[in-house]
Amino acid sequence: MDQGEASSELWYRARCCDCPSQGQLVRRLRIAEAAARRHADDKSHTVYVGDDRGNRIYGTTYHPGRERP
Ligand SMILES: [Zn+2]
Repeated sequence: MDQGEASSELWYRARCCDCPSQGQLVRRLRIAEAAARRHADDKSHTVYVGDDRGNRIYGTTYHPGRERP
C-alpha cells in the first residue's frame, strides 16, 4: 500500500538550537533522530528534529548528557 505518496511525503532533518548546523533532509524520521542524537552527543548541543515545513516533531529534542542509561 505505497500509494498516495503526495500527501504523506514528509521529509525530516535534525536542527540544532545552539549552532547553525542542520542535518540532511531524509525520508525516515528515525534517521533524522539518529543524526540529531549524534550531534547532541558530539557537540553537547540541544538538537531536535523538524519536518520540511518547519514544524518541530514533538518528543524529538535531544539534550546533551541526558541519554546515559
Ligand atoms: Zn550544534
